[in-house]
Amino acid sequence: MPRLTQADLAPLNKTLEERTPQELLSWAASIFGNRLAALSAMQMAGSIVCHMISQAKLNIPVLFVDTGVNFQETLDTRDRLISEQGLNVITLYPPMTMAEQIKAHGVLYLTPEGQKECCSMRKIQPLLTAAGKYDGIVGSLRRAEGGRRGGVPILALDQDMNTVRVNVLANMSDEEMQAYLTSNDVIVNPLHDQGFTTISCNRCTTPVLPSEPPRAGRWRHLGPWSAYCHINPTDRDSAGTQGIELDQEVLNRLFGRDGDFAI
Ligand code: SF4
Repeated sequence: MPRLTQADLAPLNKTLEERTPQELLSWAASIFGNRLAALSAMQMAGSIVCHMISQAKLNIPVLFVDTGVNFQETLDTRDRLISEQGLNVITLYPPMTMAEQIKAHGVLYLTPEGQKECCSMRKIQPLLTAAGKYDGIVGSLRRAEGGRRGGVPILALDQDMNTVRVNVLANMSDEEMQAYLTSNDVIVNPLHDQGFTTISCNRCTTPVLPSEPPRAGRWRHLGPWSAYCHINPTDRDSAGTQGIELDQEVLNRLFGRDGDFAI
């Protein structure tokens, strides 16, 4: 099967820079068809992507990883997206409950090394159960988040999932995000109104003070060395270095080599 590298995507990524998030979403649907999904942790940016999917009536399933220790507000947000926006949310689960994991491995999330293991078991491995089903996964990373996301490409390879991550909000600023929320009836996780700038498991996420960086509430007990769970491969140092394998037909559509596909 033909191999696609991150370098191959560079010229295409350039052409996509001017597209709006909605245009990128429609473009991704036209390229990947029924082998496209979105990934949301039920945070604000993910809710915007879900709203755009719903508004455009795109048949894109939304993958959500229920770690078993999510806040109830997060699960309620997922349920509202299903019942009020009619989204097809596919919930993925870890192989063990948190109680079973603690019995087998101890309380991993209390140490930096254990956190990596815990996030791998409770977030990355559940997502990997969907590997092979999708050639593209729409994400909600934004460059305005800074840190590892400051230079995130619109199209980024996900080697573990053998997919192309499509970061449709990559160019959305904080102001544009707020404007979208104000002008649209977006279902937003209520924890954002309680000081949570980012939201993950209830074991490892706290609200932040206005004077703190947005990600200060993640793994606060571990210090600044554990700022990401790595479910998004572009948050890692070695993202997309080896490439992925896609059908020639998908590659032809991706690069506009076959048929009438705008790129
Ligand atoms: S955020 Fe914490 S509890 Fe959740 S998977 Fe990662 S380490 Fe485990």
